[in-house]
Amino acid sequence: MSEPDGAKLELLLELQATDSRLRKLRHTLDDLPEQQQLDEAVARVADLEREHGDVRAELERASSQQRKLEREIAVLSERRDAERTRLYDGTVFNARQMKAIEAEVDTTERRISDHEDQLLEVMEQVEALDTRANELDAEAQRTRERVEELTAARDQAAKDLLAELAELEATRIRQANGLPEDLLSRYERIVARTGGAGVGKLENNSCTACRIQLSMADVGELQAGPPLTTCPQCRRLLVVPA
Ligand SMILES: [Zn+2]
Repeated sequence: MSEPDGAKLELLLELQATDSRLRKLRHTLDDLPEQQQLDEAVARVADLEREHGDVRAELERASSQQRKLEREIAVLSERRDAERTRLYDGTVFNARQMKAIEAEVDTTERRISDHEDQLLEVMEQVEALDTRANELDAEAQRTRERVEELTAARDQAAKDLLAELAELEATRIRQANGLPEDLLSRYERIVARTGGAGVGKLENNSCTACRIQLSMADVGELQAGPPLTTCPQCRRLLVVPA
């Protein structure tokens, strides 16, 4: 391998900086806060719709119970009215018969009264369930609007990041094309192996890739050697400035 000159080594360090930014940017895209908020809002809408469905079903049951009681009260009232009519229309004279009819009227009145108590309770349930269903519906509607806003925010955030990504990728191609092939492939092999940086620079007695402090003896040896070497700590490429 021919010794790359200082300009090529500078370019290699710039490529490293571009790759670090690309890695961060890809991570950010995978982990957008707008996306997380959107996921939460979508899940909330599903919860609200499920709860709304449960309340509606309960409301249906209570309403049907209300209609049943109203029908029964109507039937019982008709019966009571018919019994009363018999008492006064002159068809019954016998005192015992009249007492029997009066007793029937009393029984029917009690049944009507029981039904009316039940009806009142059911009507209260219907009203409470109806209120709850409307509240859930309104909250679901508000949350659906929030989903729309968050979708737009997510798309906008991703759009900016994707534009930045495209720019960095173009920069990377330009930088990579300016490097000798053998140097680039050494760098890329190290990146593939470490999943992170491929090259560091000797700065303040340590390598900028691993940041491990080197001994004065190591630093002296590195400074006396070639401008491109290997970090004695992390084994990545190391640029030693003149
Ligand atoms: Zn190192």
